[in-house]
Amino acid sequence: MSGSLQDLVIELAYIVAVTLFVLSLKWLSSPATARRGVQAGEVGMLIAILATLLNRGIVSYEWILIGLVVGALIGIPLGLVQMTAVPQRTALSHAFGAFATALVGTAEFYLRTPNISPFVMSALSIEIILGALTFTASLMAAGKLQEVLPQRPITYKGQNFVNLGILVLAILVAIYLVNNPGATGLFPLLIVIPMVFGVLLIVPIGGADMPTVISLLNSYAGLSAAAMGFVLKSKLLIVAGALDGSSGFILSVIMSRAMNRSFTNVLFGAFGQVQETATHAVAGTVRSATPEEAAAILEAANSVMIVPGYGMAVAQAQHKVREFYDALTKRGIDVKFAIHPVAGRMPGHMNVLLAEADVPYDRLIEMDDANSDFPQVDVALVIGANDVTNPAARHDKNSPIYGMPILEVDKARTVMVIKRGMSPGFAGIENELYYLDKTLMIFGDAKSVVGSLVRELTGGHEH
Ligand code: NDP
Repeated sequence: MSGSLQDLVIELAYIVAVTLFVLSLKWLSSPATARRGVQAGEVGMLIAILATLLNRGIVSYEWILIGLVVGALIGIPLGLVQMTAVPQRTALSHAFGAFATALVGTAEFYLRTPNISPFVMSALSIEIILGALTFTASLMAAGKLQEVLPQRPITYKGQNFVNLGILVLAILVAIYLVNNPGATGLFPLLIVIPMVFGVLLIVPIGGADMPTVISLLNSYAGLSAAAMGFVLKSKLLIVAGALDGSSGFILSVIMSRAMNRSFTNVLFGAFGQVQETATHAVAGTVRSATPEEAAAILEAANSVMIVPGYGMAVAQAQHKVREFYDALTKRGIDVKFAIHPVAGRMPGHMNVLLAEADVPYDRLIEMDDANSDFPQVDVALVIGANDVTNPAARHDKNSPIYGMPILEVDKARTVMVIKRGMSPGFAGIENELYYLDKTLMIFGDAKSVVGSLVRELTGGHEH
């Protein structure tokens, strides 16, 4: 291939790749098209990588091959983790991505110094600062979620001031380097200071807020890659990084709203201050029912709202839940699924599981719609959800989840809750829902209890 033809092919491939990235994000925004969205993103990335390998600037393919093998050896097992471990897995991949941009930035600095224009040095500094801080912050986030580090937020007086001071220091180093790009002795500080900042950024944040933070770190990693695009004059990196940066940012805003965190808290990473409130006991008695008794009530219902949560994911009960949905629907009962935006342990967790079990998408309804339905619903059946149904969020100012929008299952005529015992959910607090007169607890593993309900409803004919 002649040189200019090669360049043209590369440019065209990049345009195709970028188009696929945009379509991917568009399709990912609805469960009905999400699978196609993932595939479009994968194909786009493959095209981008292949086109980049055609680049005439490549000196040696051996190192690329070695990198490919090492990356695949790490990446394949990472892709096989349990669904419930996806948040920490995602944090790890952000850490790797951000570390890569910081390394590329470092290499570019040493290759080009002292002949670096102020514009390129500014982009390089942004790339390295964001890359280095995202690297350590993502490792910390993964450690907290995997519980190898304490989940508890660690706070002290003046913490934000110290953190901000460290960030300002990194920016001052960057400004000096923009004006004196030959100051190689100072350069390591541009990496080390943001790395320290990354650790300190995560220290005050509780485990419960980590997925929101991860989404924000995703955004930082994307912006770092976009800055790298300016250094390497790669339009592909600029566009892909900007898409990554903005989508991560939007997702963290959506999540923080759903968990009732203010937007400034997201920006300054100062979540978790309210997490340490002690749990306080709820007075009252708990009524429990057997699956047989529950099935009898369900048979008499006209409408049932299923509220899935983290427990359904742990028990892998989604396929049984689908059978349960079929059994009720066959009896002419109107069945819907109320989806809380932060049910489970990652955004879209419930949607993914229910889609895997082929539950029709149009039966999944969002929180606001579900809440206007609950007062007319005969039975709200909570399957392994806890915090997202806790009425304390509405009225108990001392509760760590006070203000979080919840699914108002307590407004349904009858409430049934499937869980193994009386253990609290992620927020570590009791749920007064379980003590209401209208609530029946069906104790047991979600998969086996829903299985028993299906047997009762179908007269023993499970499929
Ligand atoms: P919770 O974590 O509040 O509660 C889950 C409940 O499931 C537990 O009380 C547990 O009770 C029960 N459970 C566990 N295993 C099983 C099983 N095998 N069978 C039946 N029940 C089981 O879940 P929710 O979905 O209601 O709430 C999610 C929480 O996670 C919220 O606090 C949210 O803020 C937080 N979070 C969500 C994120 C997201 O992006 N979705 C991210 C980070 C945090 P028992 O042990 O008695 O069975």
